Amino acid sequence: MRSILVTAGPTREKIDPVRFLSNYSTGKFGYEIAREAKRRGWRATLVSGPTYLEVPRGVRLVRVESAMDMKKAVMKELAGTDCLVMAAAVSDWRPKSFSKTKIKKRGGKRVLELAQNPDILSAAGRKKGAKVLVGFALETENLEKNAYRKLKEKNLDIIIANRLTRDACAFGDCPTDILMLDRFGNKSELRRRSKGRLAKIILDKVETFNI
Ligand code: C5P
Repeated sequence: MRSILVTAGPTREKIDPVRFLSNYSTGKFGYEIAREAKRRGWRATLVSGPTYLEVPRGVRLVRVESAMDMKKAVMKELAGTDCLVMAAAVSDWRPKSFSKTKIKKRGGKRVLELAQNPDILSAAGRKKGAKVLVGFALETENLEKNAYRKLKEKNLDIIIANRLTRDACAFGDCPTDILMLDRFGNKSELRRRSKGRLAKIILDKVETFNI
């Protein structure tokens, strides 16, 4: 039986017990990919940041909150997985320190110091734990150039690039435009497809890798 590990959703990086840094990701794309894999009879595990989405039937869920939690879970689950899809919007930074008590409102300017989070996909690429590695890229400019660079730098087989513009939809349940590139130089541009439909197209592509 083929197996897939999909990460989805945002991460939350705690500042204090009531505040965090995060982003607008809903997890929709990753959940659709896990649903489609299960429908094809694959063993599917979702490593998910906080979302309100329902877990697709038969998919195993590992809940995480921060990028550090997500990295730990991915590295643990990676062994023996045929395909890793990193659809999660991992926060690139976390607050350098966590305050155990709520930070008080005091007058004047406040500066939040940040530390860089590890790149989970690059770490998985170096480990080559999965046979097929799929990454995502959300860009506001130079979509194709940046996507090619990430494909190479992160040692990926496939990259799905999403353009973030005022009229294109990248977050949530809406028709989406993507550019899909693979390590052999193949390119497909898909416009205004549902994330469910795109999940099928992406898994068809993964299957061409003969896993
Ligand atoms: O470099 P960038 O963040 O645009 O790359 C996006 C891809 O890398 C996505 O697949 C995302 O899940 C993954 N990523 C990661 N760890 C990070 C940041 C991004 O695995 N810290």
